[in-house]
Amino acid sequence: MFSLKTPATLASVLVTLQTQGLDRLDAQLLLLHVLGQPLHARAWLLAHDSDPLPPAARAKLAACVQRRLRGEPLAYICGQKEFFGLNLTVDPRVLVPRPDTETLVEWALEVLANRVGASVIDLGTGSGAIALALKHTRPDLQVSALDFSHEALAVARSNAQRLSLALDLHQGCWLAGVTARFDAIVANPPYIAEHDQHLEALTHEPAQALVSGPDGLDDIRTIIAQAQNHLHPGGWLLLEHGFDQACAVREALRHAGFLNAQSRRDLSGIERCSGAMHAPV
Ligand code: GLN
Repeated sequence: MFSLKTPATLASVLVTLQTQGLDRLDAQLLLLHVLGQPLHARAWLLAHDSDPLPPAARAKLAACVQRRLRGEPLAYICGQKEFFGLNLTVDPRVLVPRPDTETLVEWALEVLANRVGASVIDLGTGSGAIALALKHTRPDLQVSALDFSHEALAVARSNAQRLSLALDLHQGCWLAGVTARFDAIVANPPYIAEHDQHLEALTHEPAQALVSGPDGLDDIRTIIAQAQNHLHPGGWLLLEHGFDQACAVREALRHAGFLNAQSRRDLSGIERCSGAMHAPV
């Protein structure tokens, strides 16, 4: 149970939080959150380390610490997550954006580098992270974003509005109801196998955004099968996937007739994304 000596300074609160089992970064971010400070303002905490913790923040902190110690992602507790330099609002309706997914954004920016005004669709957009990162970096792009979940689309829509970034949002099951063709299709779909033990650590996030059949590849196979009919000649399909799926995804891409199947590594050096090109005319 979380308890503090009275009166507590911010420095002493940080120490207490760590002795209660929080890691240092989480402790700093929760403290900034309850004090109403931006989460990037960790230097502010140092400058104010002898300030007392106000009583209102104290009560809020106790509740937040309990949630964190029960395994809830910090992003849900603080209601926000930084992704590709954007501050996104997140809640349990959407997966928490991961830094590894920035690999996919960077790759999409590369394949679209010489195509002014190109069109791209983000499948399973969730919070809108990938789509918004693309639109923010390349305002000339026509960015569509699709999700099966109406609830997720509401989160993506509010992020787009708050950041003043124009997204063309659609509800649908992958590309089934989409008629347009794109210069790039990107997706961070669910890719965890049904009985994967790794799911135990992810119970706070929507299963619909995580789990995809017995080997985790059901949705990836569906997207690959649909994508050929939705890419312009020379367009790229880029997919995030699990740590051990790169080979299978490259193989599925080749099998479907894509060219140049290849993979990219994430920040931990794991092959995290695979993609390929639709044949040019
Ligand atoms: N990268 C997430 C994880 O393994 C899963 C995301 C997903 O299934 N798309 O924690």
